[in-house]
Amino acid sequence: MPNSPSRASGTDAVALTDRTDDRPVYVIGGGPGGLSAAAALRARGVRTVVLEKSDRVGASWRGHYDRLHLHTTRRWSALPGLKMPRRFGRWVSRDDVVRYLEKYAEHHELEVVTGVEVTRIDRAADGTGWQLAATGGRVLRGRAVVVATGFNHTPRIPDWPGRETFTGRLLHAAEYRNPTPYAGQDVLVVGIGNTGAEIAADLAEGGASTVRIAVRTVPHIVRRSTAGLPAQATGILVRRLPVWVVDRVGRLMNRVALPDLSAHGLPRPDTGLYSRVKEGAIPVQDVGLIDAVKSGTVQPVAAVDSFDEDAVVLADGSRVTPQAVIAATGYDRALEPLVGHLDVLDRRGRPLVHGGRSPKHARGLYFTGFTNPISGMLREMALDADRIAKKVARAR
Ligand SMILES: Cc1cc2nc3c(=O)[nH]c(=O)nc-3n(C[C@H](O)[C@H](O)[C@H](O)COP(=O)(O)OP(=O)(O)OC[C@H]3O[C@@H](n4cnc5c(N)ncnc54)[C@H](O)[C@@H]3O)c2cc1C
Repeated sequence: MPNSPSRASGTDAVALTDRTDDRPVYVIGGGPGGLSAAAALRARGVRTVVLEKSDRVGASWRGHYDRLHLHTTRRWSALPGLKMPRRFGRWVSRDDVVRYLEKYAEHHELEVVTGVEVTRIDRAADGTGWQLAATGGRVLRGRAVVVATGFNHTPRIPDWPGRETFTGRLLHAAEYRNPTPYAGQDVLVVGIGNTGAEIAADLAEGGASTVRIAVRTVPHIVRRSTAGLPAQATGILVRRLPVWVVDRVGRLMNRVALPDLSAHGLPRPDTGLYSRVKEGAIPVQDVGLIDAVKSGTVQPVAAVDSFDEDAVVLADGSRVTPQAVIAATGYDRALEPLVGHLDVLDRRGRPLVHGGRSPKHARGLYFTGFTNPISGMLREMALDADRIAKKVARAR
C-alpha cells in the first residue's frame, strides 16, 4: 500500500487511479529537484502529484555521510518559494537540508505519495499524455511527467579485475556514514571527487591508522570561499564565459590561493578547470583535504588497477593491503528502464534535453537534476523548476 500523501493540509488521500477528467502532472522523485518542480507547478495552479519510492521526502540526503554540509551557500541553495532559515548558517548541514526539504513539502502543501516506485514511462495509448507503470501493478495517467529521480541514482563500483577475491571490505561511498568503524584501520579511498576527498579527510581526522586516496586524474581543488567570496559565486559569474578564459583564470587562482602539493603526491592539474567541468568533473572544494595531504595523514596514490586477495594493485605496479576500500567512484543515472525505449537519452544515459525543454518526439516529458553545473545543482534545479512549470502551464 502506498502511504497517504504528505500534504500539510491533511485532506483526502490522492487516489492513484486513472482520472481522465483531471489528469495531474506526475513528478517522479521527492528530492529537491522533484519538490521544487512540484511547488512551481502548484504555484501556477497545475495539479501535481509527487511519487517517491522511499517512505519520506529527501531520501538521498538522509543517506549521506554525517559530516556533509552543502558546498553551495544557504542563499543559493534554497528552492523557490521558501528561504532557508538563517540559523542553518552559511554552509548548511545534511540534517538541516533534510529538515528544509520536509518543511518545503509541507509549506507548499505538496501532494507527495511515498512508497511508490515508477518503473516505466510510456505514451498514453490514446495519444494524450503519459502512462506510468509503478510498483504494485499500478498504472497511472498524467498529462505531463517530470523525471527527477536524481543524478546520483545508483552507486557505481568499477568492475576491477580480481574484485571478488578481495579479502578486505569493499564498499561504495554511499554506504559510508562516519569514521568510527574504521578507527585504527588501514583504509584506501578510491576517487578524488568531492565525496572521496571529504571521506578521506574525515577518516584521517577520525582515527584511521592509514588513509590513502587513489587518484586517476589530478583534480582541480578550490577553496570553499576566498576572502569571503564563495567558490559558488565565482562559478555563477564565470559560467557563461568562454571555456579558455575560465581555464586561464582558474590556473592563476590555483597558483595564488593553493599550496603546491606535488611533493606530497598531488601535482597541479595540467588540464583547464572549466574544460574539466565541461567533461563532467566538478572541482573539489577543500574541506580538509589540503591540510591532510600536507601533513601526510592522507596519502595520494596511483589509481586502482586490480585486486588480488588481500592486496590492491595500483596503476604504477605497487601494492597496498588496506582493510577497507571505499569506492567514491560515482553513480549511474539508471534512466534506461524508465525511459530508455523513448529515445530521449544520449550515449551516456543522460537526457537529451533538460529543464523547460521537452524532446520534440516526447512532448510533455521533462527532466530536472541531470546536469552537474559549476554554479550549483540546487540553484539550477530551482531555476529549472520555474521553466518547467511555465511550459506545462502554457500547454494547457
Ligand atoms: C554528497 C553530495 C553532496 C552534494 N552537495 C551539493 C551542494 O552542496 N550543492 C548543490 O547545489 N548540490 C549538491 N549536490 C548535488 C544535488 O543537489 C543533490 O544530489 C540533490 O539531492 C539532487 O536532487 P534530486 O532531486 O535531483 O535527486 P535526489 O535528491 O537524489 O532525489 C531523487 C529522489 O527520487 C526518488 N526516486 C528515484 N527513482 C525513483 C523512481 N523510479 N520512482 C519514485 N521515486 C524515485 C529517490 O528515492 C529520491 O528521493 C550534492 C550531491 C551529493 C551526492
